[in-house]
Amino acid sequence: MIIFADDGILFSSNPNTLQTMLNDMQRYCELWGLKINTEKTKVIIFEKGRHTRHDFHINNIQLEIVNSIKYLGVHFFKNNNWYMTQKRIAQHASFSLHNLFIVLNQIDLNACDKCKLFDSLVGSVLNYSAEVWGNHPGADIERIHTKFCRKVLQVKTSTNLDCLYGELGRLPMSVMRKIIMIRYWIKIITSSHTSMLYRVYSMLMTDVENNNTYNGTNWAHQIKCILDNIGMSNIWINQAGSNIIFTNIKLRIIEIYKQTWYSNINNSPRLETYSLFKHEFTIEPYIDFIKEKKYRIALTQLRLSSHQLEIERGRYTNIERNDRKCKQCDMNLVENEFHFILVCPKFRTIRNKYLKRYYCQWPTINKLQNLFMEKSKRVVTNLAKYIYFATKARLDV
Ligand SMILES: [Zn+2]
Repeated sequence: MIIFADDGILFSSNPNTLQTMLNDMQRYCELWGLKINTEKTKVIIFEKGRHTRHDFHINNIQLEIVNSIKYLGVHFFKNNNWYMTQKRIAQHASFSLHNLFIVLNQIDLNACDKCKLFDSLVGSVLNYSAEVWGNHPGADIERIHTKFCRKVLQVKTSTNLDCLYGELGRLPMSVMRKIIMIRYWIKIITSSHTSMLYRVYSMLMTDVENNNTYNGTNWAHQIKCILDNIGMSNIWINQAGSNIIFTNIKLRIIEIYKQTWYSNINNSPRLETYSLFKHEFTIEPYIDFIKEKKYRIALTQLRLSSHQLEIERGRYTNIERNDRKCKQCDMNLVENEFHFILVCPKFRTIRNKYLKRYYCQWPTINKLQNLFMEKSKRVVTNLAKYIYFATKARLDV
């Protein structure tokens, strides 16, 4: 039995025992002049597959058996799955996101501050009770997060997620949840061994030791998997004796994610150009130093392949990569970022105005890479201007 404020929960693995507990509870309340609100008292039977039929009563009044229950703000579903839980959280957070967008449309903030606002106003909703359900992939939750990232960067829905996260240096919510779960785990294993929390954890641990993971839903098993996947199995094995440092585990989780992110970028043919210049998982400074929004957006869209060049359009119409030719000139070359920025003769005048001669004369992929990796604010802003005006000229065909 758990009692918190004016809420109470009775647990039982057996229907008859639960009815006995309800009877005891009723007698206790009668004795002390308390009245149980049978309208608000619900029963949930956690089970897979078919519904089993049971009746439970208080004072001869039959209690309603429900499929889901909200306890301390968390939705629990009878199938013991967190899919609907994360969906409800995402629905709830979409209102917060909407309100945040209203604010962002009214005041001009830099990208870092926008991200901070998101984390405190929306992220806190998305991560609610993630300590418990955090292992779920949480697709609906991630959609709220990526919607925000796209809004900040002003890119298409189809933009590659690794680019989206990389450009803003933002970790996916699923990675954040692993960190939250580890923090909670350390709290449990360092708590008093007589606490109810620790005793429940011990039960889960016994199941893990007996290889009983309940199809991966055993929470302690999930913690073990997180540690195994980041090469820290020793921490799991020695959890009773050693002094576990949260920061070390957190940094390792982030590091492993960054490695996967980097290899995704380098192994995707679609991100050939992006992989040329994006090497660090950190927010790009140009997002804030290019003050004119239209130039900044033009640069972001080109960097993230969220553009209309034939190399990208051909993907949707299933044209062979080598056949995605530039229609702006008669050079019979593939219209990719390299061609558009440094080669296509159509934009020569604009190019001469905004790009250094060094880049345009005898252009090479290496020069394109250097141009994108330029540290000079003036050079990067001019590149953004070039992309903006050349894109306009391209659309004016
Ligand atoms: Zn061309």
